[in-house]
Amino acid sequence: MRTRFRGITVREGLLARGETGWIELSPFWDYDAAASRPWYDAAATDAVRVWPTPVRDAVPVNCTVPAVGPEQAQAIVRGGHGCRTAKVKVAEPGQTLADDEARVAAVRDALGPDGAVRVDANGAWSVDEAFEALAVLDRAAGGLEYAEQPCRTVEELATLRRRTPVPIAADESIRRAEDPYRVAELGAADIAVLKVQPLGGVAACLEIAERIGLPVVVSSALETSVGIAAGVALAAALPELPYACGLGTVSLLEHDVVDAPLVPRGGVLPVVRPEPSAAFLATAPDPDLVARWAARLEEIRTVRAVAR
Ligand SMILES: [Mg+2]
Repeated sequence: MRTRFRGITVREGLLARGETGWIELSPFWDYDAAASRPWYDAAATDAVRVWPTPVRDAVPVNCTVPAVGPEQAQAIVRGGHGCRTAKVKVAEPGQTLADDEARVAAVRDALGPDGAVRVDANGAWSVDEAFEALAVLDRAAGGLEYAEQPCRTVEELATLRRRTPVPIAADESIRRAEDPYRVAELGAADIAVLKVQPLGGVAACLEIAERIGLPVVVSSALETSVGIAAGVALAAALPELPYACGLGTVSLLEHDVVDAPLVPRGGVLPVVRPEPSAAFLATAPDPDLVARWAARLEEIRTVRAVAR
């Protein structure tokens, strides 16, 4: 990683070639075998499936602003590959609401009045904290597009949504939940964030998108271009795509595995199914890393699938 993100500095994963193309399997190391199982199912399914027919040939994406200071936030937005939407991380441990407010205001300033600013709190706030913080950040942004996972539980999101005028997007409440549809049933969100690997693959996500009845934002799990392409394929196949997707994350990585990385141009990503570069494939991986992943894979393969 170029900067620490989601508490990690090194991103690991496995690439495999299936009948229809390359796939990425990269559950985070803090996930146990059961939590990693949907990621495995996604890889196993997508390795032998052709991507669904796209209804658009490019997918708009947002740039991502980690919990950095205002100057760095502005630099990220200005170097944001033409993205007109910025997702700002907020509620970082050790930081204050004033830090978030300054970062959000700086992002709006760099983006100009016609861009969209959304925030992601990764479930860090209580309902009261979220209500108060969103009022402040909504003002600092001159109007927030939405707030992603402001509180941890579906019940809290539902309560908050009845109080705040800021639209609510559910992320962890869908991908780490036993029942992804509870969010819609409880009226807990205006937008559903879907991620291909944790939700079982491109086809499984298309089904969720259809059943959940909410506008969908497809986001990445910090994959290489091989994994990002699966998210783009999903986003490109959705009947409606009213928001920019969170798939512009390849630039958070120091290296990629393909010759033409899926970095946005003019704020969009193309629909492609990339292959690892010859140079990458010719590089022998570290034997310790291979052994660690082989053991982990065996554990994931034999664990009972999480009920969904
Ligand atoms: Mg999120």
